[in-house]
Amino acid sequence: ASAFSSVPLAPPDIIFHLTAQYKADKDPKKVNVGVGAFRTDKLQPYVLPVVKKADAILFNDESLDHEYQPIAGQPSYTKAAARLILGKDSPAIKENRVAAVQTISGTGANHTGAAFLAQFYKKSRTVYISNPTWANHRNIFSMVGFEVKEYPYWNPTTRGLDYSGLIKAMEQAPDGGIFILHACAHNPTGVDPTRDQWKGIADVMQKKNHFPFFDCAYQGFASGDLDSDAWAVRYFVDRGFELFVAQSFAKNFGLYGERAGNLTIVTKSTGETNTVFSQIEKLQRAEISNPPAYGARIVDIVLNDPVLYAEWKENLKYMSNRIIEMRKALYGRLIELKTPGKWNHITDQIGMFSFTGLNKNQVTVLKQKYHIYMTDNGRISMAGLSTTNVNYFATALDDVVR
Ligand code: PLP
Repeated sequence: ASAFSSVPLAPPDIIFHLTAQYKADKDPKKVNVGVGAFRTDKLQPYVLPVVKKADAILFNDESLDHEYQPIAGQPSYTKAAARLILGKDSPAIKENRVAAVQTISGTGANHTGAAFLAQFYKKSRTVYISNPTWANHRNIFSMVGFEVKEYPYWNPTTRGLDYSGLIKAMEQAPDGGIFILHACAHNPTGVDPTRDQWKGIADVMQKKNHFPFFDCAYQGFASGDLDSDAWAVRYFVDRGFELFVAQSFAKNFGLYGERAGNLTIVTKSTGETNTVFSQIEKLQRAEISNPPAYGARIVDIVLNDPVLYAEWKENLKYMSNRIIEMRKALYGRLIELKTPGKWNHITDQIGMFSFTGLNKNQVTVLKQKYHIYMTDNGRISMAGLSTTNVNYFATALDDVVR
């Protein structure tokens, strides 16, 4: 008998399965609002102009080779990534309390942080994730041995944040729990706590000695402003927390396939930072030996050159503005159609996604009757809409909610 005869078949990944169905659909009106990748108004992938410039610099650099990168990545890259999220005047940076390691994009940053905590975090064996959250959080944290529980996040009635439910869950969790927090542009809901609410969250987390693990996949992409998207993380650092931040450059640099990410770690002292970093390096060595060079080199060039950095900010504005325009267009069209229900959450939510409130049946009808593809939870990627298809989409949505 095969050594693998008892291996059960795993379900297909929801998003990638959806994309395959979309690709197989021959209808010219088809719409893909499933996958969370930016598209231009012509619905094409977008190579940021600043990335093209960095590409040209790399191409012409005779000194570059294909040698191994340092285990934790190039320090110029990891330092710049940490500076980007913490802010250049961060007290943690000034006091040398920051370690950073290049990871396999945001997924790898979550994983490396998870694997480290599984080994060294002694206060709790439980990780709390928001309900709902990015589907991979549960996989990543349970695969390294944590018990994964959910805290309330989405209130379907208000189509906004269940703040009191969230606070109550934090109050009731045993001390020292690890809480995964979306730094900005919560996936899938597009709903973030307000600054006052973040203060309330910090209060209870401090009181309960909970550990904040921020996942930051959309810095600059959410509001178009790198600093305001980093506000929550910086606030927690100012409050004196030790924390992890998983950073992805997939969305904000359009480097999805290049897997450029970073795990930034803030501790209480330089001594702890050094020991933690030594263990992260050891872990990384066992898992991937050395991180990939190409995407990180692009990010390194842009973050460390004032002119290119300024240009990157413009590119970010273009992307976030296009998404905001699509929110307005969809909302406006639903109002014109007098679509039953309240739709202001479409313009209130931020980032790549909108949690429409459509149910599974409606999602199925949209797929079968209108060739519109979205996840069963009614989440739509705003970048899948364009000035050309937004009316069609709104009309279809109007039909299924009537
Ligand atoms: N975290 C969240 C919340 C995300 O939405 C994503 C991407 O969709 C990621 C992390 C990581 O993505 P990547 O591994 O492509 O950087």
